[in-house]
Amino acid sequence: MALIDRWPGIIAKLPGGQVLLTKLDDLLSWSRASSLWPMTYGIACCAIEMMCTGASRFDIDRFGAGVFRPSPRQCDVMIVAGTVCSKMADPLVRLYEQMPNPKYVLAFGSCAISGGPFANDSYSVIKGVDLLVPVDVYIPGCPPRPETLLVGIMKLQEKIKTESITGVREPMIRVA
Ligand code: SF4
Repeated sequence: MALIDRWPGIIAKLPGGQVLLTKLDDLLSWSRASSLWPMTYGIACCAIEMMCTGASRFDIDRFGAGVFRPSPRQCDVMIVAGTVCSKMADPLVRLYEQMPNPKYVLAFGSCAISGGPFANDSYSVIKGVDLLVPVDVYIPGCPPRPETLLVGIMKLQEKIKTESITGVREPMIRVA
């Protein structure tokens, strides 16, 4: 095992090491939760609401999540905003796999959650993006309003703040 993987265990054995690691965990989790980098990725009408969230009226930058990146390799959040058709399934999974860990997915709107209005009578719509990639937060609506996306981002931030990088805390509760 490399030294980089063993350092939390080494520090934990020092006097006060557990306290130090817990505080370090808090700092790292707070930093990650406060600087989310979403992917520039909208696939249907819900994407218009996502774009509105970035505009001055709603100002997603207040939550540190306004830097939409053009490359999946620079992102840690995929906001699936719109109807996922069968043809989009492979590119969506490929983009998700190209994102570095840790990474998160928001299912934004009824189509992304369950196929929405196309759930029953369409042969070409995926009945929920969680059939393709793991979803962290579900944001309902057709379309959800920009404020709802902000609530979803706050829920994701709550989840990230419970995660442990050093392994001294119990990792992850699911917020949905
Ligand atoms: S949930 Fe409604 S608004 Fe959003 S992509 Fe589907 S049909 Fe369009």
